[in-house]
Amino acid sequence: MKQKDIAELLDEPACAHNKKSKSGCAKPKPGATAGGCAFDGAQIALLPIADVAHIVHGPIACAGSSWDNRGTRSSGSRLFRIGMTTDLTEQDIIMGRGEKRLFHAIKQALEEHQPAAVFVYNTCVPALIGDDIEAVCKEAQKRWGTPVVPVDAAGFYGTKNLGNRIAGESMVKYVCGTREPDPKPVSEDGLQIHDISLVGEYNIAGELWHVLPLLDELGLRVLCTLSGDARYREVQTMHRSEANMMVCSKAMINVARKLQEAFGTPWFEGSFYGVGDVSQALRDFARLIADPDLSERTERLIAREEAKIDVALAPWREQLRGKKVLLYTGGVKSWSIIAALQDLGMEVVATGTRKSTEEDKARIRELMGQDALMIEDGNPRGLIQMVHDNNVDVLIAGGRNMYTALKARIPFLDINQEREFGYAGYAGMIELARQLVLTIDSPIWSAVRAPAPWRQAPVETGSTLPEGGI
Ligand code: SF4
Repeated sequence: MKQKDIAELLDEPACAHNKKSKSGCAKPKPGATAGGCAFDGAQIALLPIADVAHIVHGPIACAGSSWDNRGTRSSGSRLFRIGMTTDLTEQDIIMGRGEKRLFHAIKQALEEHQPAAVFVYNTCVPALIGDDIEAVCKEAQKRWGTPVVPVDAAGFYGTKNLGNRIAGESMVKYVCGTREPDPKPVSEDGLQIHDISLVGEYNIAGELWHVLPLLDELGLRVLCTLSGDARYREVQTMHRSEANMMVCSKAMINVARKLQEAFGTPWFEGSFYGVGDVSQALRDFARLIADPDLSERTERLIAREEAKIDVALAPWREQLRGKKVLLYTGGVKSWSIIAALQDLGMEVVATGTRKSTEEDKARIRELMGQDALMIEDGNPRGLIQMVHDNNVDVLIAGGRNMYTALKARIPFLDINQEREFGYAGYAGMIELARQLVLTIDSPIWSAVRAPAPWRQAPVETGSTLPEGGI
């Protein structure tokens, strides 16, 4: 990828960083890719497209770095779960066999799995030795007639977020608009069907399936979810959607913007976490599509669902009222989760904002007050100290903080991409409440905090760090 293309992706006009300082997204500092390199970001963004063969062109370790580490679910094809790599070795590099190996890998994937398409991910080594993956993909597509899409996101190009954007760029450049959608179905009750797409929704733990029935009832046909539970043929038709929702606040914002520029598709940024935000997302679709009948039906559905969820959440709210939470999320929108937790009657004492945009932070202040405690650097020692200083009942964070919390005997709920439960939609809210109660009330905490039978004095848990450090 050329320097100027990378600079263009970093200088995303729709991104809040850019609106604020006109400086584009920050260039990565040394060590920034510890949170994932550009290749990692690109693969994680596209891997959920289930019927595609995803080939990582590079040493085998790159493929292991990001394969299936997001708990995304598919309702059909499971091809995406087969890790494929050209497994470049020193000999291949010395002998200049990289492109040849890639060509054979594409052939093997096509012969053995008959995928709808092949995506080829570039990594550092082939990018440094100058393999022309675009030319190889073009040639392979010509030879075998199946789409072969290059995703040129070598790790050293930049951060994981840049990789997300490169992935989106590849979809807009090579896939969107290459097929027309199936004709709209005729609804039995005379409903006008509208086409929509979701960008940056990954169907983690199957949570998208909490939302789809609502959209279905409203007559909103989801042409494509980029990329949770998606199929290649769906991505091809995204250009025809009447409104797009940007679900993840940072990943693939360029896709929404470019589809608007090229096809005039309006988009909004929303969230499916928390009762209020789910309702708002449904309203925003109706607003952008500007169909009065749809707006009316949306309001009726929201009123019905909110009344239902209120009753269902009552016993959980009873148990969660006044409990203190420390929220340290990586990818998901903190403001959306804060609203959901406050709705359950919980008190959010602090929240992580390391990956939040300026707009995210403004929304957090709106919800938590101007003096909201925001954590920029979530080092484990600091997090635990904050938990103890504020008498926090539960730490909600990403999987990498799990052992920090467990070693410090703090109730912990995984909120990031590796989580095993879906929290989106109205139904997801009940799951969130249930998991919080199960976590906080688990008998394990009293057991592990009790003095060991061979000790005389009780273990202090409220003010000191665990023995042996973190
Ligand atoms: S692409 Fe580069 S930075 Fe990323 S895992 Fe491979 S070698 Fe490491």
